[in-house]
Amino acid sequence: MSEKKSMTEIYGSNVFNNSVMSERLPKKVYKDLKKIIANGEILTPEVAEVVANAMKDWAIERGATHYTHWFQPMTGITAEKHDAFISPTDDGKAIMEFSGKELIKGEPDASSFPSGGIRATFEARGYTVWDCTSPAFLKEDAAGVTLCIPTAFCSYTGEALDKKTPLLRSMQAINVQALRILRLFGDTETVKVTTSVGPEQEYFLIDKKLYDQRKDLIFTGRTLYGAMSPKGQELEDHYFGIIKERVACFMRDLNIELWKLGISAKTQHNEVAPAQHELAPIYDDTNIATDHNQLIMEYMKKLAAHHGLVCLLHEKPFAGVNGSGKHNNWSISTNGGSNLLEPGKEPHENKRFLLFLTAVIKAVDEHADLLRLSAANPGNDHRLGANEAPPAIISMFLGEQLEDILEQIVDGNLISSKKGGKMTIGVSTLPTLKKDATDRNRTSPFAFTGNKFEFRMVPSSASISGPNFVLNTIVADALKEFADELEKADDFDKALEELLVSTVKKHRRIVFNGNGYSDEWVAEAERRGLPNIKSMVDAIPSIVTPKAIKLFEDHGVLTAGECHSRAEISYEDYSKKIDIEARTMIDIALKQIKPAVIKYTKDIADAVASLKAVGADAAVEEKLLSGLIAELSKLSNGIIKLSGALEDAGKIKDIAAQAMAYKDNVFAAMEQLREPADKLEMMVDETVWPFPTYGELLFNI
Ligand code: ADP
Ligand code: MG
Repeated sequence: MSEKKSMTEIYGSNVFNNSVMSERLPKKVYKDLKKIIANGEILTPEVAEVVANAMKDWAIERGATHYTHWFQPMTGITAEKHDAFISPTDDGKAIMEFSGKELIKGEPDASSFPSGGIRATFEARGYTVWDCTSPAFLKEDAAGVTLCIPTAFCSYTGEALDKKTPLLRSMQAINVQALRILRLFGDTETVKVTTSVGPEQEYFLIDKKLYDQRKDLIFTGRTLYGAMSPKGQELEDHYFGIIKERVACFMRDLNIELWKLGISAKTQHNEVAPAQHELAPIYDDTNIATDHNQLIMEYMKKLAAHHGLVCLLHEKPFAGVNGSGKHNNWSISTNGGSNLLEPGKEPHENKRFLLFLTAVIKAVDEHADLLRLSAANPGNDHRLGANEAPPAIISMFLGEQLEDILEQIVDGNLISSKKGGKMTIGVSTLPTLKKDATDRNRTSPFAFTGNKFEFRMVPSSASISGPNFVLNTIVADALKEFADELEKADDFDKALEELLVSTVKKHRRIVFNGNGYSDEWVAEAERRGLPNIKSMVDAIPSIVTPKAIKLFEDHGVLTAGECHSRAEISYEDYSKKIDIEARTMIDIALKQIKPAVIKYTKDIADAVASLKAVGADAAVEEKLLSGLIAELSKLSNGIIKLSGALEDAGKIKDIAAQAMAYKDNVFAAMEQLREPADKLEMMVDETVWPFPTYGELLFNI
C-alpha cells in the first residue's frame, strides 16, 4: 500500500459506490438504480446490463481479472467462486465480458452447503442473486484483484439458504410497519425506515509460531487444555492499555485495507483480557453493516498472518480470562435522518419516541427466547451466564430517566423527565461537564445507550445477521400490533396513551437496571417468569415454536420450512463442533500429553531408585512420583470415558437428542479430561510439556 496517499483518497477506493456510479453510469440509469436501492423498487434487466458493463470496466481498470458472487451460506462465513471475465473469440484471442445476467444471477452447486434438509444432494441447484443495496467491491490478495458482488443465496425452489435473505426480508418488514406508525403521527414525508447497526468486534491476537504448536487452536480455534498462567487479567492493566508496537502495526494495516473497502473502522483498543483487542466501525444500514462485519473478520484473520500473528475470533479461546463477543448497537431511523429512538430533551413529551421504545420493550419481552437463540453458538455457551458476559437471561436496561418515565406512564401521570445536571470534579481548572441523564450498565444484555440499543450477547465469531433479523422482525411485529390498534381508533391521542399504559404494564418485567451478574437476579428473573436458557441446544427449539413460525411467516421473513431447516442446521453444527473438540482432546491426550508424562515419570522413578541406592532420602521424589501416577491414571480414565461418550453420541439418530448428548455427556467428559491434564502441566518440568502454555500464548507478543 502506498504510504503517501491520504486517508480520504484511500477511503472507499475499492468500492463501486455512489460517486463511481454517478461518474460512470448514464444519468438516467444512475437515477433509476438509486431509486431501486433507496425505495426497494424492482430491478430491470436493462438497468442491470448497463451497471454490469460499467462495473466490469471499473474493475478491469483496477486490475481485476475475475469476478465472484459473494454470499453468506449457513456456515456463517462467506463463500465465493471466482470466474474470469475472459471470453475467447474466433481468432484465438479473448475479450473481457460481463453481462447483466451474470451480475444478477449465479448458479453455485447448493448441495455442499448446509441446508437443513431443504436440499437433497441430488437436487443441487441453487442461485445467488445480486443484492444491489450493498455495494460491489474489489478484493486485492494473492489471487490478484477480484470483483466481489454481494448476493443472496437461495434454492431452486426459492428458499433461503443463507444469512442475508432473511435479513433483507426483515428490513422490508420493519420498514412497512414503521411507516404505518409514522403516518399515524402525521408524517407524510418519510418514504423509508431503516435499521442501522454498529457492531463492536472483539478478538485475540497470538503469535503464529506458538499457535502452530497447538493442535487445539488449529482444529477448534480455542485451547482445550492449559493451566492458568500466574498472571491473568486481575491487574486490569490491559483494558485500554498502551497498544504494543506489533499489534499497532497490524491495526494500521487492517484499518487501511478496511478503509479501501469503505468500511469505517474507527475505534481500536486493548480489551480486558491479555492479548485481547477490539475494533468498532461507524454504524451503517444493517445489511451493509452485516456484510462489512464479515469482511472485518476475514481481513483480521488475513492480515494477522502478514504480521506473524493469528487472530482468534472464538468466543472463549482461553479458560480463566474474558472471552470475546460483539456489541450489536442497533437503532431505527427515517430516510430523512431522524433517529426514532432519540428521546430528545423532554422524552416524556416525545410520544413517537415512547411508542418506538415500548415497541422494543414488548418485542424483547415477548420473544426473549428467539433473541437468546440468535446469540447462541457453541463458543458462546462458555460465556453467557459466566461472570464476564451478560447472563443467559434476556433483560433490558433503560436507565434512570426512562425507568422513571415508565413509572409515570403506569401511574397515569406523565409530566416530567429527569435531567442529567452538571458535574464538577473539584479542580478549578477542569471544565464543568454536562452529565448524561443516565449511567451505563455493563452487565445488561440489552441496554439503551442514548439513542440506540446495545445487544451485548452476540458471539464474536458469528455473523450478525441472526441477531438483527430477529430484532427487526420482533420489533416489526410489535409495531404492527400497535398500528392495527391505533389505525382503527377514533381518538388517536387517547388510544396511544392507553396503548402505552397497557404495554408498559404488561412488559415492564423485562426491564432490569441492577447487577445482571448477581445470583439474586437469577432468582428474581425466575420470579418474574423470564426464561433462563442456559445453552445453545436448549435455545434451538425456540425457532420452531408455533409462536415463532407465525411471527416469521406473518412478516415474510422465514417460512415454516426455513425455520425447521435452521433448527436442524443448528443442532448439527453444535454436534459437529463438539465432536471435533472431543476428538482433538483425545488426540492430544494420547499422542502428546501421555507420552510426555510417561517419560517424565520414568525420570522421577529413576531418581527415586538412585537416591535410595545411595541411602539418601527420596521422600520428595516419591511424593511427586505417586502424584504423577495418580493424575496419569485419571487422564487415562478420562480418555476412555470421553471416547465412550463420543461413541454413544455418534449412534443417536435423532439430531436434537444427539446434540443434547453431546452437551450433557461428551462436553461433560471433556471437562473431566481437562482437569488431570492441567494438573500434570503444573507438576512436570516445563521443558517436557509438549505445547506452549497459557503464559506464553497470552504474554508473548
Ligand atoms: P460505546 O460507548 O459503547 O463505545 P459508541 O458511541 O462509541 O458507544 O458507539 C459504539 C457503536 O455504536 C459504534 O459502532 C457506533 O457507530 C454505533 N452507533 C452509534 N449510533 C448508532 C445508531 N444510531 N445506530 C446504530 N449504531 C450506532
Ligand atoms: Mg459498547
